[in-house]
Amino acid sequence: MTALFYVVVGIVALVLGGLVARASHAVPRGEYKELFAPSCPYCGKRLPHAASIPLIGSFLIAFRCPHCGERQGGKTLTSELVFAVVCLLLHLVYGFSYLFFVYVLTAALLLMLSLIDLDIREVPHSLLFAVLLIGVLLFVFSFFDFSLTGTVWWEHLIGAVVISVPLFVLMMVTGGVGGGDVKLMFCLGLLLAWKLTIVAFFFGVILAALVALVLRIWCGKGGKYQLPLVPFLSLGAVIALLVGEKLLAIVF
Ligand SMILES: [Zn+2]
Repeated sequence: MTALFYVVVGIVALVLGGLVARASHAVPRGEYKELFAPSCPYCGKRLPHAASIPLIGSFLIAFRCPHCGERQGGKTLTSELVFAVVCLLLHLVYGFSYLFFVYVLTAALLLMLSLIDLDIREVPHSLLFAVLLIGVLLFVFSFFDFSLTGTVWWEHLIGAVVISVPLFVLMMVTGGVGGGDVKLMFCLGLLLAWKLTIVAFFFGVILAALVALVLRIWCGKGGKYQLPLVPFLSLGAVIALLVGEKLLAIVF
């Protein structure tokens, strides 16, 4: 029964992961029909319905657009797998509490923001606003006993500024950080409260530095590839949601 339950959760998450990948294309362009009837970004022609089947859709079209032959489907498959794994792990930690659904929604928004940042280097305000709304919800809930987060209201307020303000100063001084990254850390900080925000940022920066190092070695010193930060900050946030509390309990 438990195995069947996880299979069902996994399948739902795969479907949603595919939807997130399509939304990452549709939202910044305002082409919402793409969500349910995806077309090739290169030639604009409608992709076969089979391409939308979770997990196997990308294989069915052999990772190519059948019309123009351009690469297609890799992003969708990655998004499906990543989202399914994150949902199952969140369920392991939070069970079927309301926090589970709140964090699944947060993960979906973060995945969308990451894919958009990787794709066109933009951080859409509509998605940031959705993350902010979840942050406000958890901030308000922190006044009540049923919040389940175990946080107090001021921890959320400190979370909003603990990383975003230093990042803002860094942005003003060096210009090495994008405005989108600062805004994301403000919204995420309100959502996570200060302890998990620091954990999230710690992991985000370490992962970004590791990948930057690998790229530096891979592409040589002349490579001037500016790494998008949103995917790393998002991954850091998910790590914080999954193991942050346990890590903090071990360290402190
Ligand atoms: Zn095409």
